[in-house]
Amino acid sequence: MKSIDQHWDVIVVGSGLGGLSAACRLAKAGLRVLVLEQHVLPGGYAHHFLRKVKGSDIVYDFDVALHQTGNLKPGRSMHRVLSELGVLERIGLNEFDIAYRSRGPAHDLQIPADASAYELLLCEKFPEHASGVKDLFATLRKIDEGDGAEAPNLEAMQTMGLTLEDFVAQHVRDERIAAIFATLWGYIGLIPSKVSAFMYAMMWTSYHHGGCFYIKGGGQVLSNAFVDVIEENGGKVLLNTEVAKILTEAGRAVGVETVKRGIFRAPVVVSNAAAPLTYERLLDRPELAEADRAVSDALPRSVSIHQAYIGLRGDASKLGMTDRGAFFNPTYDFEAEWQALEKGEFRKQGWLIGNHNLADPGHSPAGRSIIHVATMADGRLWTGLDENDYAAKKNELEQYLIDRLCELIPDARERIEVCETGTPHTMQRYSWNPDGAIYGYAFTPESHSIFRPQPRSSVPGLYLAGAWTFPGAGFSGTMISGQNTAKLVFEDMEGRSLAQG
Ligand SMILES: Cc1cc2nc3c(=O)[nH]c(=O)nc-3n(C[C@H](O)[C@H](O)[C@H](O)COP(=O)(O)OP(=O)(O)OC[C@H]3O[C@@H](n4cnc5c(N)ncnc54)[C@H](O)[C@@H]3O)c2cc1C
Repeated sequence: MKSIDQHWDVIVVGSGLGGLSAACRLAKAGLRVLVLEQHVLPGGYAHHFLRKVKGSDIVYDFDVALHQTGNLKPGRSMHRVLSELGVLERIGLNEFDIAYRSRGPAHDLQIPADASAYELLLCEKFPEHASGVKDLFATLRKIDEGDGAEAPNLEAMQTMGLTLEDFVAQHVRDERIAAIFATLWGYIGLIPSKVSAFMYAMMWTSYHHGGCFYIKGGGQVLSNAFVDVIEENGGKVLLNTEVAKILTEAGRAVGVETVKRGIFRAPVVVSNAAAPLTYERLLDRPELAEADRAVSDALPRSVSIHQAYIGLRGDASKLGMTDRGAFFNPTYDFEAEWQALEKGEFRKQGWLIGNHNLADPGHSPAGRSIIHVATMADGRLWTGLDENDYAAKKNELEQYLIDRLCELIPDARERIEVCETGTPHTMQRYSWNPDGAIYGYAFTPESHSIFRPQPRSSVPGLYLAGAWTFPGAGFSGTMISGQNTAKLVFEDMEGRSLAQG
C-alpha cells in the first residue's frame, strides 16, 4: 500500500456529491484536501456498475441514480458552480425539451421542460382553471428569481411553512391539475400533503426554469470529474478507505482514524457520511455533539427506492418505450398511495419507468437498451430480514417491476439479458445511508433546509456536507451543500487567523 501523507488541511469523510463538491472548492482555493471513501468507486449514489452478459463480451453500464438533474442552463446556479470549479468543461450534457410523461387516471401528458410551454399546455387542457394555473406559474416565476441567491426571496419565504397541497390550493383547486403538478413528488420523496412547498418549488423550478439534463455517461462521469479537479489541485481521493472514527482533542476535530490506513490529521473534518452516523458512530466523543444529535434524532428520514436496472436486447424506443422518463400514477389518492408505501404494498403505488437510451444515446451496447423501473420505498421494511425472506421479497419486487415493463414491451421478459434490482438494503449497503434513505431527512415543512442539522456542527472543526444537512438532497442540492460548507470553512479559517493576529 502506497504511503500517504498523514497531515492535511482538510479531511472529507465520504465521496458523495456533497463531499466531492466541498473538497473541490477547498482544493481549488489552495487547501490540501484528503477525501476518504469506503467504497471502491467515488460518488456515493452518483456512481455506476457494470454487468456482463453471460457467455458474451457484451457489458451494460448502469447509472445507479441519475434520472435527470436541473439548473444547468447557462446562467443558472449549477451551471455557474460547476464552471467555477472547472468541472463543467469535463462533462457533456444532454438537454431535453420534454421533462417527463405524466399519466394518471384522467390524464396522460408529455410535460414540457419549459415552464411557459407547460403553463400553456395546462391552460389548453383545463381552460376553466386557466386563471388559477397562470397565477400558480406566475408565483413560481417570482420564487425562481431567487435562484443562486444567498437567501430565499419573499415569495419563497412565504412557502416556508406550507405543504405543497396547501400551496397549490392557494392558486387552483382541481385534483387533476394538483396531481399533474405534483408528478415529481418521487424526486423529493413525500406526497403533496406532507412535502414542503418551499423545497418542492425549488426542485420544480430547477427543472422547469433551469432545464432538464442528463450527464453524458452518467453520474460516475460527474464524480470522476470532481476527483480529477481535486487531485490536479493537490488533493487526494483515497478509495476503499473506511473512516472508523472522527478524532477530537480538547473538544475540537483534529483528524480521523481509518480501519486500514491508520490516522490522518487535519484541523478541519467535513463529514459527507449520513448525519446520524456521523454523530452516533463516527465522532469519538458523541457527547460533544449532543445538540446536533438531538436535532437529528427529532427529524423524520426520507424514503428509499426500489429500482430495477434492466439490460434489454433490442431498441426499446422501437419496441414501445418512447419515453425517456414516465411517471404512472394509478390514483389521485396520494394518501392511499402513501399508506401503501408504508406497508410495503408496492403494487398499489405509482412507478417511474425510463428508457435510458433516450437520456444517453449511444451508451448502451449496440442494438440493446438500458431500462429502469422504480417505485419509492420505506427502507425500514427491508431491515432485519433473514437471507431467504429477503431473497423472496426481492424476487417478488423484481417480477413486479418487470411486469410494468411488459405492459409497454410485451415480450420484454424474453429480451432481458441482465437485470439487477436495487432494494433499500442495496442502497444502504453501498452508500451507508441508514435504511437506504436517498434524500437524507424527509422534506416536511418542519425538516427541510434550515431545520436540518447545520453544516457547521457544534464541534469546532467538524462540518457536514450532503443530503443530511442544509440545503438538502439530489444532485443539485448536495453539490450546493458542498459549496455552502466550503464557504463556512473559509469563514472560520479567516476568523481564526484574524484572532491569531
Ligand atoms: C436510485 C436513485 C435515484 C436517484 N435519482 C436522482 C435523480 O434523478 N436526480 C437527483 O438529483 N437525485 C437523485 N437521487 C438522489 C441523489 O443521488 C442523492 O441525494 C445524492 O447523490 C446524495 O449525495 P450525498 O452527498 O448526500 O452523498 P451519498 O451519495 O449519500 O454518499 C455518501 C458517501 O459517504 C461514504 N461514507 C459513509 N460513511 C463513510 C465512512 N465511515 N468512511 C468512508 N466513507 C464513508 C459512502 O460510502 C458514500 O460514498 C437518486 C438516488 C438514488 C439512490
